[in-house]
Amino acid sequence: MKRILNFSAGPATLPVSVLEEASRGILEIEGSGMSILEVSHRGSHYEKIHFDARDRMLKLMGLSADEYTCLFLGGGASLQFAMLPMNYLAGGSADYVQTGEWPNKAMKEAKIFGKVNVSASSEDGKYSYIPKVFKWDPAAQYAHICTNNTIEGTAFSKLPDTGVVPLVADASSEMLSRAWDFSKFSMIYAGAQKNLGPAGVCVVVMKKSFLEKAREEVPAILSYKIHAKNDSLYNTPPAFAIYTLGLVLKWLDTQGGVKGIEEKNRRKAGFIYQAIDDLLDVYEPACREKEDRSLMNITWRLRTADADREKAFLKGAQDIGLDGLKGHRSVGGFRASVYNAFPEEGCAKLAQYLRDFAKQY
Ligand code: PMP
Repeated sequence: MKRILNFSAGPATLPVSVLEEASRGILEIEGSGMSILEVSHRGSHYEKIHFDARDRMLKLMGLSADEYTCLFLGGGASLQFAMLPMNYLAGGSADYVQTGEWPNKAMKEAKIFGKVNVSASSEDGKYSYIPKVFKWDPAAQYAHICTNNTIEGTAFSKLPDTGVVPLVADASSEMLSRAWDFSKFSMIYAGAQKNLGPAGVCVVVMKKSFLEKAREEVPAILSYKIHAKNDSLYNTPPAFAIYTLGLVLKWLDTQGGVKGIEEKNRRKAGFIYQAIDDLLDVYEPACREKEDRSLMNITWRLRTADADREKAFLKGAQDIGLDGLKGHRSVGGFRASVYNAFPEEGCAKLAQYLRDFAKQY
């Protein structure tokens, strides 16, 4: 099989070794005589996979199972936009930092259940930067940030100090790509399909003390407490997605864990940003400030926004096997998504292409 360089924002590239092992698991799981697609989620074969993935997740994040729990839920990160306020607000308020389209969606859902305080916003700059000054309301149930803004290509370079307000983060497009002090989060969640595995599972890591404050009066399937009490086995979990996620986490160990992969991610993004920075007469980074640049989603435009030239850029890229570089439809331009499993050589190849294309500009 000839693999292309897939810069898609997600679902995205997975390690080939994981794809190979998952293919074997589709045929048979650990001498069980059954495929991972066939085993009961109440049986010992699946339980081992499920709990191993959960334990690995917390271990990679440096979190203790006494203090934190890791849930595997369906519905993607979008479900968390609704489930979080449903479980915590009941007419109360929450702080939200408005840094782009995904946070806007999260805020819209929260408004159904309570009051949303905008603690900071970069709307005035079309979300091209991360705000540095925040206003937290001590009465807020939680403070929500999006650590990496997939569409805009911005990311928090350090976590804001939210004081007494529990910090909650949507880390969908960067989960386990850099070594945060994860104990700063009361809850951190991510749809798996970018950095962690296939679509179908959303990882929700919660501090137990925060979980205790969740409301009981919500439908069972949308209750954090019910899912936690049942170890994410309240109903049939997305077993294949969790199995593959477990394989990705094993692979991450071979990459030096989160610290190791962060070093690699910095090198990878560095190739591309360096090419853009060397050619600022041709390319314009979409992110206004260097410190706010995402390591995962690199966004830029041509200086002279010209539809034909943009097309030529994408066509030339496609011709040499660089796929998925078109920017999100709401912002235009280009976007290179280079998640954990995206190969370093691919980033070097894109950097070279940026230089080659600029020569004919
Ligand atoms: N948050 C962010 C930051 C995202 O990038 C995405 C998906 N691109 C989502 C939320 C929504 O995720 P899902 O499709 O899993 O609901």
